[in-house]
Amino acid sequence: MHGDLLRDVAFWRFLLDLDRELAQSARKDGCLCGGHLHAGNYFRNPRGGPDDLPKECCLRLSLCCGREGCRKRLTPPSVRFLGPKVYLLPVIFLAAAMRQGPSPRAMRELSTLFGADRRTIARWQVLWQEHFPQTRFWKVERARLPHPNEALLLPRALVVAFFTSHNPRDDWERLLRFLSPITIAGGLTVAIGR
Ligand SMILES: [Zn+2]
Repeated sequence: MHGDLLRDVAFWRFLLDLDRELAQSARKDGCLCGGHLHAGNYFRNPRGGPDDLPKECCLRLSLCCGREGCRKRLTPPSVRFLGPKVYLLPVIFLAAAMRQGPSPRAMRELSTLFGADRRTIARWQVLWQEHFPQTRFWKVERARLPHPNEALLLPRALVVAFFTSHNPRDDWERLLRFLSPITIAGGLTVAIGR
């Protein structure tokens, strides 16, 4: 399922461009206090990407309010970083998705492919299968899914919904844009009540 793309540096540059777009749009909105937002980017040490991932692709785009007395940090949604998680979002998604379906991949194979140990990959499965379905995001946004199939488990249901074209990069873009709201602080908050 398009795992090769994740080892391609050009793909990560493409995702960085999408993040720049998301940051630009958040910047236009400005701070809640009315102040202007400035770039407050910082480097992270993400795992799971290609060995030759350029330094710039490790940049978490972030914004800071320039107004004296506020200086609030605003971290916009991302298509690459899932909150504070060390592994990159597409990796966290793909490894869990590859455990499902008609020919699930062995833990050992995935562990070699993404450089994550079994316990970490098992935690990603729990994240998508048990935690994510309970989030406020999913309860609202599932209605917007193209080609919904309620019978399928997550995250495979998202694979079926988004990986529909002959262009894997487009498919990834649509999936990751859809998921980007869960990457900010509070984005994985579990819905209260139903
Ligand atoms: Zn402010």
